[in-house]
Amino acid sequence: MPFFPLYWDNTFILIIIGMAISGFASMYVQSTYRKFGEVNSKNGLTASEVCRKILDVGHLEDVRLEGIRGNLTDHYNAQENVLRLSDTTRNSKSVAAIGVAAHEAGHALQDRDDYGPLRLRAALVPVTNFGQTAAFPILFAGIIFGGGDSFLINIGILLFSLTLLFQLVTLPVEFNASNRAIQVLETQGLLSREEIPQARKVLNAAALTYVAAALASFLSIMRLVLIFGGGGRGRN
Ligand SMILES: [Zn+2]
Repeated sequence: MPFFPLYWDNTFILIIIGMAISGFASMYVQSTYRKFGEVNSKNGLTASEVCRKILDVGHLEDVRLEGIRGNLTDHYNAQENVLRLSDTTRNSKSVAAIGVAAHEAGHALQDRDDYGPLRLRAALVPVTNFGQTAAFPILFAGIIFGGGDSFLINIGILLFSLTLLFQLVTLPVEFNASNRAIQVLETQGLLSREEIPQARKVLNAAALTYVAAALASFLSIMRLVLIFGGGGRGRN
């Protein structure tokens, strides 16, 4: 049973820890969003109006604002030059929704400024997709045909690591978009002095999910290294 240790050896605890961290982060962002989703901002503007304002102030009048179905599906698409706000965000006047909308506008501002990590992240998309598709089959082939200590296994682990690399590059992109959001909300007076820390809490909680995802990936790669590292030494 050469691939048995892939599932139930002691190192599986690392996967469980990763899942627990991700689960906690996801619960935390949802509860934070719910909490500040009930607080309407004093300016009375919808998240959509705030977003338009930030784009216009940033000389991004050409970026279109559209709606999209779902909850927290908000995103900026650089290729299409469009910023999409979800049903729950768009018409809400809450501090949470305004924070999320401003964060997405922050990505548009990064695009305008040719922000390095954003470009690097975009360049890594095809590489990461390839890694995600190829990693497991190659690892599996290494286990079956290579007796657990083959070159193929190392290649498989390396391909898995591309996802982690992508997630690590995502971190500065996300933190920077939030920083830009908070800054513009503050300077444009789109949120009050008391509301700024609340919006920051929502954005920090959202950023935490990206940190958790990277951490979970790191732990699962560590697990593969523990199982196969040093030419399959750890297998039993
Ligand atoms: Zn983002």
